[in-house]
Amino acid sequence: SLEETAIWSEGVEGVDVPGYDRAGVRPGIVHIGVGGFHRAHLAMYVDALLTAGEARDWGICGVGVLPADDRMRDVLRAQDGLYTLVRKEADGSLSPRVVGSLVDYLYAPDDPQAVIERIADPATRIVSLTITEGGYAIDQKTGEFDAEFAGIADDLAADVPTGAFGLVVAGLALRRERGTGPLTIMSCDNMQGNGDVARRVFTGYAQLRDADLGVWVAQNVTFPNSMVDRITPATADSDREALAERFGLHDGWPVVCEPFTQWVLEDDFAAGRPEFERVGVQVVDDVVPYEFMKLRLLNATHQALGYLGYLAGHRYVHEVAQDPTFASFLRGYMNDEATPTLRPVPGIDLDAYKDTLIERFANPGVADTLMRINFGSSDRISIFLLPVVREQLAAGGPVDRAAAVVAGWCRYAEGTDEQGQPVAQQDRLADELTALARREREEPLAFLRHRPVFGDLADDERFAGAFRRALESLYTRGAAPTVADLA
Ligand code: NAD
Repeated sequence: SLEETAIWSEGVEGVDVPGYDRAGVRPGIVHIGVGGFHRAHLAMYVDALLTAGEARDWGICGVGVLPADDRMRDVLRAQDGLYTLVRKEADGSLSPRVVGSLVDYLYAPDDPQAVIERIADPATRIVSLTITEGGYAIDQKTGEFDAEFAGIADDLAADVPTGAFGLVVAGLALRRERGTGPLTIMSCDNMQGNGDVARRVFTGYAQLRDADLGVWVAQNVTFPNSMVDRITPATADSDREALAERFGLHDGWPVVCEPFTQWVLEDDFAAGRPEFERVGVQVVDDVVPYEFMKLRLLNATHQALGYLGYLAGHRYVHEVAQDPTFASFLRGYMNDEATPTLRPVPGIDLDAYKDTLIERFANPGVADTLMRINFGSSDRISIFLLPVVREQLAAGGPVDRAAAVVAGWCRYAEGTDEQGQPVAQQDRLADELTALARREREEPLAFLRHRPVFGDLADDERFAGAFRRALESLYTRGAAPTVADLA
Protein backbone atom coordinates (compact mmCIF):
# COMPACT_ATOMS: atom_id res chain seq x y z
CA SER A 1 0.00 0.00 0.00
CA LEU A 2 1.03 3.60 -0.38
CA GLU A 3 1.68 4.03 3.33
CA GLU A 4 4.42 1.44 3.21
CA THR A 5 6.44 2.96 0.41
CA ALA A 6 9.59 4.97 0.88
CA ILE A 7 8.24 8.16 -0.65
CA TRP A 8 5.17 8.19 1.53
CA SER A 9 6.88 8.04 4.89
CA GLU A 10 6.14 11.44 6.36
CA GLY A 11 2.46 11.96 5.63
CA VAL A 12 1.91 14.27 2.76
CA GLU A 13 -0.55 17.07 2.11
CA GLY A 14 -1.33 18.77 -1.18
CA VAL A 15 -0.25 15.77 -3.22
CA ASP A 16 -2.54 13.74 -5.45
CA VAL A 17 -2.08 10.00 -4.96
CA PRO A 18 -3.51 6.97 -6.74
CA GLY A 19 -7.00 6.40 -5.38
CA TYR A 20 -7.29 3.04 -7.13
CA ASP A 21 -6.28 -0.43 -5.97
CA ARG A 22 -2.87 -0.97 -7.56
CA ALA A 23 -2.60 -4.58 -6.49
CA GLY A 24 -5.24 -5.62 -9.01
CA VAL A 25 -3.78 -3.73 -11.97
CA ARG A 26 -2.36 -6.20 -14.51
CA PRO A 27 0.44 -5.20 -16.90
CA GLY A 28 -0.68 -5.08 -20.55
CA ILE A 29 1.97 -2.62 -21.76
CA VAL A 30 5.70 -3.31 -21.70
CA HIS A 31 7.63 -0.05 -21.93
CA ILE A 32 11.31 0.10 -22.87
CA GLY A 33 13.19 3.24 -21.78
CA VAL A 34 11.63 4.39 -18.52
CA GLY A 35 13.11 7.86 -18.34
CA GLY A 36 11.65 11.26 -17.66
CA PHE A 37 9.43 11.53 -20.69
CA HIS A 38 7.68 8.18 -20.39
CA ARG A 39 6.89 8.91 -16.76
CA ALA A 40 5.47 12.35 -17.67
CA HIS A 41 3.44 11.15 -20.65
CA LEU A 42 2.25 7.58 -21.38
CA ALA A 43 2.49 6.50 -17.73
CA MET A 44 0.54 9.63 -16.76
CA TYR A 45 -2.23 8.91 -19.31
CA VAL A 46 -2.56 5.32 -18.09
CA ASP A 47 -2.63 6.59 -14.50
CA ALA A 48 -5.46 8.96 -15.48
CA LEU A 49 -7.41 6.04 -16.96
CA LEU A 50 -6.85 3.95 -13.83
CA THR A 51 -8.06 6.89 -11.76
CA ALA A 52 -11.23 6.90 -13.84
CA GLY A 53 -11.70 3.21 -13.04
CA GLU A 54 -10.65 2.08 -16.52
CA ALA A 55 -7.75 0.16 -18.08
CA ARG A 56 -7.14 -2.31 -15.29
CA ASP A 57 -5.52 -4.70 -17.80
CA TRP A 58 -3.27 -1.95 -19.12
CA GLY A 59 -0.79 -1.42 -16.31
CA ILE A 60 2.80 -0.84 -17.38
CA CYS A 61 5.81 -3.09 -16.93
CA GLY A 62 8.88 -0.87 -17.38
CA VAL A 63 12.04 -2.28 -18.90
CA GLY A 64 15.58 -0.92 -18.60
CA VAL A 65 17.91 -2.10 -21.34
CA LEU A 66 21.03 -0.02 -20.82
CA PRO A 67 23.44 -0.73 -17.94
CA ALA A 68 22.87 2.84 -16.68
CA ASP A 69 19.22 1.98 -16.01
CA ASP A 70 20.30 0.27 -12.79
CA ARG A 71 19.62 3.54 -10.98
CA MET A 72 16.03 3.63 -12.16
CA ARG A 73 15.66 -0.06 -11.24
CA ASP A 74 16.85 0.61 -7.69
CA VAL A 75 14.65 3.66 -7.18
CA LEU A 76 11.52 2.04 -8.56
CA ARG A 77 12.07 -1.14 -6.55
CA ALA A 78 12.50 0.87 -3.37
CA GLN A 79 9.31 2.80 -4.13
CA ASP A 80 7.16 -0.08 -5.34
CA GLY A 81 7.05 1.51 -8.80
CA LEU A 82 5.58 4.74 -7.46
CA TYR A 83 7.10 8.08 -8.35
CA THR A 84 6.07 11.71 -8.23
CA LEU A 85 5.21 13.67 -11.34
CA VAL A 86 5.63 17.36 -10.55
CA ARG A 87 3.89 19.89 -12.77
CA LYS A 88 5.74 23.19 -12.73
CA GLU A 89 3.13 25.89 -13.16
CA ALA A 90 4.00 29.19 -14.85
CA ASP A 91 3.47 31.08 -11.56
CA GLY A 92 6.23 29.07 -9.90
CA SER A 93 3.96 26.74 -7.91
CA LEU A 94 4.31 22.97 -8.01
CA SER A 95 1.52 20.42 -8.54
CA PRO A 96 2.77 16.97 -7.52
CA ARG A 97 0.95 13.74 -8.31
CA VAL A 98 2.09 10.28 -7.29
CA VAL A 99 1.69 8.05 -10.35
CA GLY A 100 0.76 4.40 -9.88
CA SER A 101 0.56 2.96 -13.41
CA LEU A 102 4.07 1.46 -13.40
CA VAL A 103 3.25 -1.82 -11.72
CA ASP A 104 6.41 -3.78 -12.55
CA TYR A 105 9.97 -3.12 -13.69
CA LEU A 106 12.47 -5.47 -15.34
CA TYR A 107 16.13 -4.66 -15.77
CA ALA A 108 17.34 -6.54 -18.85
CA PRO A 109 21.05 -6.78 -17.92
CA ASP A 110 20.02 -8.77 -14.81
CA ASP A 111 17.76 -11.17 -16.66
CA PRO A 112 17.16 -10.67 -20.40
CA GLN A 113 15.14 -13.89 -20.59
CA ALA A 114 12.57 -12.45 -18.18
CA VAL A 115 12.09 -9.48 -20.53
CA ILE A 116 11.67 -11.78 -23.53
CA GLU A 117 9.11 -13.89 -21.65
CA ARG A 118 7.20 -10.78 -20.59
CA ILE A 119 6.98 -9.60 -24.20
CA ALA A 120 5.75 -13.07 -25.16
CA ASP A 121 3.18 -13.15 -22.35
CA PRO A 122 -0.40 -13.27 -23.67
CA ALA A 123 -1.32 -10.43 -21.29
CA THR A 124 1.15 -8.13 -23.09
CA ARG A 125 -0.58 -6.45 -25.98
CA ILE A 126 1.49 -3.30 -26.48
CA VAL A 127 5.25 -2.81 -26.37
CA SER A 128 6.00 0.89 -26.22
CA LEU A 129 9.34 2.64 -26.52
CA THR A 130 11.12 5.86 -25.62
CA ILE A 131 14.72 4.95 -26.43
CA THR A 132 15.67 8.37 -27.92
CA GLU A 133 15.80 9.34 -31.59
CA GLY A 134 19.36 8.05 -31.91
CA GLY A 135 18.40 4.66 -30.49
CA TYR A 136 16.74 3.38 -33.69
CA ALA A 137 18.94 1.38 -36.05
CA ILE A 138 18.20 3.51 -39.08
CA ASP A 139 20.54 4.66 -41.82
CA GLN A 140 20.16 8.46 -41.68
CA LYS A 141 20.63 8.76 -45.42
CA THR A 142 18.26 6.11 -46.73
CA GLY A 143 15.87 5.96 -43.76
CA GLU A 144 16.08 2.17 -43.95
CA PHE A 145 17.04 -0.39 -41.30
CA ASP A 146 20.79 -0.35 -40.74
CA ALA A 147 22.14 -3.81 -39.93
CA GLU A 148 25.57 -2.23 -39.27
CA PHE A 149 24.17 -0.13 -36.41
CA ALA A 150 25.94 -0.53 -33.07
CA GLY A 151 24.94 -3.73 -31.28
CA ILE A 152 22.76 -5.23 -34.04
CA ALA A 153 25.26 -7.80 -35.34
CA ASP A 154 26.22 -8.84 -31.80
CA ASP A 155 22.58 -9.30 -30.83
CA LEU A 156 21.85 -11.36 -33.94
CA ALA A 157 24.78 -13.63 -33.14
CA ALA A 158 24.04 -13.97 -29.43
CA ASP A 159 22.07 -16.80 -27.81
CA VAL A 160 20.28 -14.25 -25.69
CA PRO A 161 20.20 -10.68 -27.08
CA THR A 162 20.72 -7.62 -24.89
CA GLY A 163 19.54 -4.68 -27.03
CA ALA A 164 15.99 -3.36 -27.38
CA PHE A 165 15.41 -4.76 -30.88
CA GLY A 166 16.94 -8.15 -30.11
CA LEU A 167 14.87 -8.55 -26.95
CA VAL A 168 11.59 -7.54 -28.55
CA VAL A 169 12.11 -9.69 -31.64
CA ALA A 170 13.02 -12.67 -29.44
CA GLY A 171 9.70 -12.09 -27.65
CA LEU A 172 7.91 -11.91 -31.00
CA ALA A 173 9.52 -15.20 -32.08
CA LEU A 174 8.08 -16.85 -28.97
CA ARG A 175 4.66 -15.36 -29.64
CA ARG A 176 4.77 -16.80 -33.14
CA GLU A 177 5.97 -20.20 -31.93
CA ARG A 178 3.33 -20.40 -29.22
CA GLY A 179 0.50 -18.89 -31.23
CA THR A 180 0.13 -16.10 -28.68
CA GLY A 181 -1.17 -13.67 -31.24
CA PRO A 182 -0.55 -10.19 -32.55
CA LEU A 183 1.08 -7.26 -30.79
CA THR A 184 1.38 -3.51 -31.20
CA ILE A 185 4.79 -1.84 -31.07
CA MET A 186 4.27 1.82 -30.24
CA SER A 187 7.18 4.22 -30.48
CA CYS A 188 6.71 7.37 -28.42
CA ASP A 189 9.99 8.89 -29.55
CA ASN A 190 10.23 12.23 -31.21
CA MET A 191 10.60 11.29 -34.84
CA GLN A 192 8.70 11.97 -37.98
CA GLY A 193 6.78 8.76 -38.69
CA ASN A 194 7.98 7.17 -35.46
CA GLY A 195 5.76 4.14 -36.10
CA ASP A 196 7.07 3.74 -39.66
CA VAL A 197 10.64 3.98 -38.38
CA ALA A 198 9.92 1.36 -35.74
CA ARG A 199 8.30 -0.87 -38.37
CA ARG A 200 11.41 -0.73 -40.55
CA VAL A 201 13.77 -1.50 -37.68
CA PHE A 202 11.78 -4.32 -36.09
CA THR A 203 10.78 -6.06 -39.31
CA GLY A 204 14.28 -5.54 -40.72
CA TYR A 205 15.82 -7.08 -37.63
CA ALA A 206 13.30 -9.95 -37.57
CA GLN A 207 13.96 -10.71 -41.22
CA LEU A 208 17.68 -11.03 -40.60
CA ARG A 209 17.01 -13.35 -37.67
CA ASP A 210 14.69 -15.54 -39.69
CA ALA A 211 12.97 -14.71 -42.97
CA ASP A 212 9.70 -16.39 -41.93
CA LEU A 213 9.66 -14.43 -38.69
CA GLY A 214 10.06 -11.26 -40.77
CA VAL A 215 6.92 -12.18 -42.69
CA TRP A 216 5.06 -12.99 -39.44
CA VAL A 217 6.01 -9.62 -37.95
CA ALA A 218 4.87 -7.80 -41.07
CA GLN A 219 1.50 -9.56 -40.81
CA ASN A 220 0.92 -9.61 -37.04
CA VAL A 221 2.49 -6.49 -35.58
CA THR A 222 1.23 -2.93 -36.02
CA PHE A 223 3.27 0.21 -35.49
CA PRO A 224 1.04 3.26 -34.89
CA ASN A 225 2.55 6.65 -35.58
CA SER A 226 2.16 9.26 -32.92
CA MET A 227 2.97 12.85 -32.12
CA VAL A 228 4.00 13.30 -28.51
CA ASP A 229 4.51 16.57 -26.70
CA ARG A 230 5.33 17.53 -23.16
CA ILE A 231 8.53 19.30 -22.15
CA THR A 232 10.15 17.10 -19.53
CA PRO A 233 13.53 18.36 -18.40
CA ALA A 234 16.01 16.12 -16.61
CA THR A 235 15.34 16.00 -12.87
CA ALA A 236 17.68 18.25 -10.89
CA ASP A 237 18.73 17.83 -7.25
CA SER A 238 16.87 21.06 -6.54
CA ASP A 239 13.66 19.37 -7.75
CA ARG A 240 14.13 16.54 -5.25
CA GLU A 241 14.84 19.06 -2.51
CA ALA A 242 11.82 21.24 -3.36
CA LEU A 243 9.57 18.20 -3.14
CA ALA A 244 10.98 17.24 0.24
CA GLU A 245 10.87 20.79 1.63
CA ARG A 246 7.46 21.88 0.36
CA PHE A 247 5.60 18.58 0.59
CA GLY A 248 7.66 16.31 2.83
CA LEU A 249 7.85 13.90 -0.08
CA HIS A 250 11.11 11.94 -0.38
CA ASP A 251 11.29 10.60 -3.87
CA GLY A 252 14.54 9.10 -5.18
CA TRP A 253 13.74 10.15 -8.74
CA PRO A 254 10.73 12.39 -9.28
CA VAL A 255 9.91 13.76 -12.75
CA VAL A 256 9.26 17.42 -13.46
CA CYS A 257 7.30 18.66 -16.45
CA GLU A 258 5.38 21.58 -17.88
CA PRO A 259 1.57 21.75 -17.50
CA PHE A 260 0.99 21.32 -21.26
CA THR A 261 0.65 17.82 -22.67
CA GLN A 262 -0.40 16.53 -26.07
CA TRP A 263 -0.56 13.14 -27.74
CA VAL A 264 -1.95 12.57 -31.22
CA LEU A 265 -2.07 8.84 -31.87
CA GLU A 266 -2.81 6.83 -35.00
CA ASP A 267 -5.53 4.26 -34.38
CA ASP A 268 -3.63 1.18 -35.52
CA PHE A 269 -3.54 -1.42 -32.75
CA ALA A 270 -3.27 -5.14 -33.50
CA ALA A 271 -4.38 -6.37 -30.08
CA GLY A 272 -6.60 -3.70 -28.59
CA ARG A 273 -5.71 -0.54 -26.69
CA PRO A 274 -6.78 1.48 -23.69
CA GLU A 275 -9.46 4.08 -24.40
CA PHE A 276 -6.91 6.87 -24.46
CA GLU A 277 -9.40 9.33 -25.95
CA ARG A 278 -11.16 9.40 -22.56
CA VAL A 279 -8.16 11.18 -21.04
CA GLY A 280 -7.46 13.79 -23.68
CA VAL A 281 -5.50 11.87 -26.32
CA GLN A 282 -6.43 12.74 -29.93
CA VAL A 283 -6.84 9.37 -31.64
CA VAL A 284 -6.79 10.03 -35.40
CA ASP A 285 -6.42 8.31 -38.77
CA ASP A 286 -3.47 10.39 -39.95
CA VAL A 287 -0.87 11.83 -37.61
CA VAL A 288 1.37 13.33 -40.28
CA PRO A 289 0.08 16.94 -40.29
CA TYR A 290 0.31 17.13 -36.48
CA GLU A 291 3.81 15.71 -36.54
CA PHE A 292 5.03 18.28 -39.01
CA MET A 293 3.50 21.02 -36.90
CA LYS A 294 5.26 19.84 -33.77
CA LEU A 295 8.62 18.85 -35.20
CA ARG A 296 8.95 21.99 -37.29
CA LEU A 297 7.48 24.49 -34.82
CA LEU A 298 8.37 23.18 -31.39
CA ASN A 299 11.44 21.00 -31.88
CA ALA A 300 13.10 23.01 -34.63
CA THR A 301 12.43 26.21 -32.66
CA HIS A 302 14.15 24.62 -29.69
CA GLN A 303 17.16 24.25 -31.98
CA ALA A 304 16.76 27.83 -33.15
CA LEU A 305 17.11 29.02 -29.57
CA GLY A 306 19.56 26.40 -28.27
CA TYR A 307 22.91 27.19 -29.88
CA LEU A 308 22.43 30.90 -30.52
CA GLY A 309 20.90 31.39 -27.06
CA TYR A 310 23.83 29.63 -25.41
CA LEU A 311 26.35 31.68 -27.37
CA ALA A 312 24.48 34.85 -26.40
CA GLY A 313 25.13 33.94 -22.77
CA HIS A 314 21.86 32.25 -21.78
CA ARG A 315 21.74 28.86 -20.09
CA TYR A 316 17.97 28.19 -19.86
CA VAL A 317 15.23 28.02 -22.48
CA HIS A 318 13.04 30.53 -20.61
CA GLU A 319 15.85 33.12 -20.59
CA VAL A 320 16.02 32.98 -24.37
CA ALA A 321 12.24 33.00 -24.89
CA GLN A 322 11.87 35.99 -22.56
CA ASP A 323 14.46 37.96 -24.55
CA PRO A 324 12.30 40.08 -26.93
CA THR A 325 14.85 40.04 -29.76
CA PHE A 326 15.09 36.27 -29.62
CA ALA A 327 11.30 35.92 -29.32
CA SER A 328 10.93 37.94 -32.50
CA PHE A 329 13.64 35.90 -34.28
CA LEU A 330 11.89 32.67 -33.24
CA ARG A 331 8.48 33.89 -34.32
CA GLY A 332 10.01 34.96 -37.65
CA TYR A 333 11.43 31.47 -38.16
CA MET A 334 8.05 29.92 -37.29
CA ASN A 335 5.96 32.23 -39.47
CA ASP A 336 8.16 32.69 -42.53
CA GLU A 337 10.18 29.49 -42.77
CA ALA A 338 8.39 26.65 -40.91
CA THR A 339 4.66 27.41 -41.32
CA PRO A 340 4.63 27.51 -45.15
CA THR A 341 5.89 23.90 -45.13
CA LEU A 342 2.96 22.63 -43.01
CA ARG A 343 -0.20 20.92 -44.18
CA PRO A 344 -3.62 21.90 -42.77
CA VAL A 345 -3.89 20.61 -39.19
CA PRO A 346 -7.51 19.69 -38.38
CA GLY A 347 -8.72 21.13 -35.10
CA ILE A 348 -5.64 23.29 -34.44
CA ASP A 349 -5.40 27.09 -34.63
CA LEU A 350 -1.79 27.52 -35.74
CA ASP A 351 -1.42 31.13 -34.58
CA ALA A 352 -2.66 30.18 -31.13
CA TYR A 353 -0.37 27.13 -31.15
CA LYS A 354 2.64 29.35 -31.88
CA ASP A 355 1.65 31.82 -29.15
CA THR A 356 1.34 28.92 -26.71
CA LEU A 357 4.78 27.68 -27.73
CA ILE A 358 6.48 30.97 -26.89
CA GLU A 359 4.58 31.01 -23.57
CA ARG A 360 5.61 27.41 -22.81
CA PHE A 361 9.24 28.17 -23.60
CA ALA A 362 9.10 31.26 -21.38
CA ASN A 363 7.85 29.32 -18.32
CA PRO A 364 10.67 29.82 -15.78
CA GLY A 365 9.38 27.02 -13.56
CA VAL A 366 10.29 24.41 -16.15
CA ALA A 367 13.95 25.49 -16.01
CA ASP A 368 14.82 23.49 -19.09
CA THR A 369 18.52 23.82 -19.86
CA LEU A 370 19.92 24.71 -23.25
CA MET A 371 22.41 21.88 -22.70
CA ARG A 372 19.52 19.38 -22.76
CA ILE A 373 18.01 20.97 -25.86
CA ASN A 374 21.40 20.81 -27.59
CA PHE A 375 21.97 17.17 -26.70
CA GLY A 376 22.32 14.80 -29.67
CA SER A 377 22.11 17.58 -32.26
CA SER A 378 23.45 15.54 -35.14
CA ASP A 379 20.61 13.02 -34.76
CA ARG A 380 18.00 15.65 -34.22
CA ILE A 381 18.78 18.45 -36.65
CA SER A 382 18.12 16.24 -39.66
CA ILE A 383 14.70 15.37 -38.21
CA PHE A 384 13.61 18.82 -37.02
CA LEU A 385 15.21 21.71 -38.86
CA LEU A 386 16.77 20.42 -42.08
CA PRO A 387 13.52 19.14 -43.65
CA VAL A 388 12.17 22.71 -43.43
CA VAL A 389 15.32 23.99 -45.15
CA ARG A 390 15.05 21.43 -47.95
CA GLU A 391 11.40 22.23 -48.63
CA GLN A 392 12.01 25.95 -48.59
CA LEU A 393 14.98 25.61 -50.96
CA ALA A 394 12.87 23.55 -53.35
CA ALA A 395 10.07 26.13 -53.17
CA GLY A 396 12.37 29.15 -53.46
CA GLY A 397 11.31 30.26 -49.97
CA PRO A 398 13.32 31.94 -47.20
CA VAL A 399 16.07 30.04 -45.34
CA ASP A 400 18.12 32.81 -43.68
CA ARG A 401 17.05 32.13 -40.11
CA ALA A 402 17.48 28.36 -40.40
CA ALA A 403 20.91 28.93 -41.95
CA ALA A 404 21.81 31.14 -38.98
CA VAL A 405 20.74 28.33 -36.64
CA VAL A 406 23.02 25.86 -38.43
CA ALA A 407 25.80 28.47 -38.27
CA GLY A 408 25.07 28.80 -34.55
CA TRP A 409 25.46 25.05 -34.17
CA CYS A 410 28.77 25.16 -36.05
CA ARG A 411 30.10 27.93 -33.78
CA TYR A 412 28.77 26.08 -30.68
CA ALA A 413 30.32 22.81 -31.87
CA GLU A 414 33.78 24.42 -31.71
CA GLY A 415 33.48 23.61 -28.03
CA THR A 416 33.99 27.09 -26.56
CA ASP A 417 31.56 29.91 -25.90
CA GLU A 418 32.02 33.60 -26.70
CA GLN A 419 33.95 34.08 -23.45
CA GLY A 420 36.31 31.23 -24.34
CA GLN A 421 34.80 28.90 -21.75
CA PRO A 422 34.52 25.21 -22.70
CA VAL A 423 31.12 23.96 -23.89
CA ALA A 424 30.64 20.21 -23.39
CA GLN A 425 29.46 18.50 -26.59
CA GLN A 426 26.96 15.72 -25.99
CA ASP A 427 26.68 14.19 -29.41
CA ARG A 428 27.65 10.84 -30.80
CA LEU A 429 29.49 12.60 -33.65
CA ALA A 430 31.07 15.21 -31.34
CA ASP A 431 34.70 14.41 -32.16
CA GLU A 432 34.43 14.73 -35.90
CA LEU A 433 31.99 17.66 -35.82
CA THR A 434 34.14 19.66 -33.41
CA ALA A 435 37.19 19.11 -35.63
CA LEU A 436 35.21 20.27 -38.69
CA ALA A 437 33.69 23.24 -36.85
CA ARG A 438 37.17 24.44 -35.90
CA ARG A 439 38.47 23.90 -39.42
CA GLU A 440 35.54 25.96 -40.79
CA ARG A 441 37.41 29.16 -39.82
CA GLU A 442 40.14 28.45 -42.41
CA GLU A 443 38.21 26.24 -44.78
CA PRO A 444 34.71 27.63 -45.44
CA LEU A 445 31.92 24.99 -45.56
CA ALA A 446 34.09 22.26 -43.97
CA PHE A 447 31.33 21.79 -41.39
CA LEU A 448 28.41 21.86 -43.83
CA ARG A 449 30.18 19.29 -46.03
CA HIS A 450 29.70 16.64 -43.36
CA ARG A 451 27.38 14.63 -45.61
CA PRO A 452 26.04 12.10 -43.10
CA VAL A 453 24.37 15.03 -41.31
CA PHE A 454 23.79 17.63 -44.02
CA GLY A 455 23.51 15.61 -47.23
CA ASP A 456 24.18 17.93 -50.16
CA LEU A 457 23.19 21.21 -48.49
CA ALA A 458 26.72 22.61 -48.90
CA ASP A 459 26.17 22.47 -52.66
CA ASP A 460 23.19 24.81 -52.49
CA GLU A 461 24.60 28.27 -53.02
CA ARG A 462 21.71 30.10 -51.45
CA PHE A 463 21.84 28.08 -48.24
CA ALA A 464 25.65 27.91 -48.08
CA GLY A 465 25.83 31.68 -48.63
CA ALA A 466 23.37 32.43 -45.83
CA PHE A 467 25.21 29.99 -43.55
CA ARG A 468 28.58 31.65 -44.21
CA ARG A 469 27.19 35.17 -43.74
CA ALA A 470 25.70 34.22 -40.38
CA LEU A 471 28.90 32.48 -39.37
CA GLU A 472 31.10 35.48 -40.26
CA SER A 473 28.79 37.59 -38.15
CA LEU A 474 29.07 35.10 -35.28
CA TYR A 475 32.89 35.12 -35.53
CA THR A 476 33.23 38.89 -35.68
CA ARG A 477 30.22 40.25 -33.76
CA GLY A 478 28.75 37.40 -31.72
CA ALA A 479 25.32 35.80 -31.39
CA ALA A 480 23.22 38.66 -30.01
CA PRO A 481 23.78 41.08 -32.94
CA THR A 482 23.53 38.22 -35.43
CA VAL A 483 20.10 37.31 -34.09
CA ALA A 484 19.05 40.98 -33.92
CA ASP A 485 19.73 41.32 -37.67
CA LEU A 486 17.27 38.50 -38.35
CA ALA A 487 14.67 39.35 -35.67
P1 NAD B 1 15.81 10.06 -20.41
O1 NAD B 1 17.26 10.19 -20.58
O2 NAD B 1 15.18 10.50 -19.14
O3 NAD B 1 15.38 8.53 -20.62
C1 NAD B 1 15.75 7.82 -21.75
C2 NAD B 1 15.54 6.34 -21.49
O4 NAD B 1 15.78 5.64 -22.70
C3 NAD B 1 16.49 5.75 -20.47
O5 NAD B 1 15.81 4.78 -19.74
C4 NAD B 1 17.57 5.11 -21.34
O6 NAD B 1 18.23 4.04 -20.72
C5 NAD B 1 16.75 4.63 -22.50
N1 NAD B 1 17.55 4.47 -23.71
C6 NAD B 1 18.30 5.42 -24.34
N2 NAD B 1 18.89 4.89 -25.44
C7 NAD B 1 18.50 3.59 -25.49
C8 NAD B 1 18.76 2.53 -26.38
N3 NAD B 1 19.58 2.67 -27.42
N4 NAD B 1 18.17 1.33 -26.14
C9 NAD B 1 17.35 1.15 -25.08
N5 NAD B 1 17.08 2.12 -24.20
C10 NAD B 1 17.64 3.33 -24.41
O7 NAD B 1 15.17 10.83 -21.64
P2 NAD B 1 13.64 11.29 -21.83
O8 NAD B 1 13.50 12.70 -21.41
O9 NAD B 1 12.78 10.28 -21.22
O10 NAD B 1 13.51 11.29 -23.39
C11 NAD B 1 13.50 10.07 -24.11
C12 NAD B 1 12.89 10.32 -25.47
O11 NAD B 1 11.53 10.68 -25.31
C13 NAD B 1 13.49 11.48 -26.25
O12 NAD B 1 14.67 11.13 -26.91
C14 NAD B 1 12.36 11.81 -27.19
O13 NAD B 1 12.41 10.96 -28.32
C15 NAD B 1 11.13 11.50 -26.38
N6 NAD B 1 10.53 12.76 -25.89
C16 NAD B 1 11.09 13.46 -24.86
C17 NAD B 1 10.54 14.67 -24.47
C18 NAD B 1 11.13 15.48 -23.35
O14 NAD B 1 10.77 16.65 -23.20
N7 NAD B 1 12.01 14.93 -22.53
C19 NAD B 1 9.41 15.18 -25.13
C20 NAD B 1 8.86 14.45 -26.18
C21 NAD B 1 9.43 13.24 -26.56
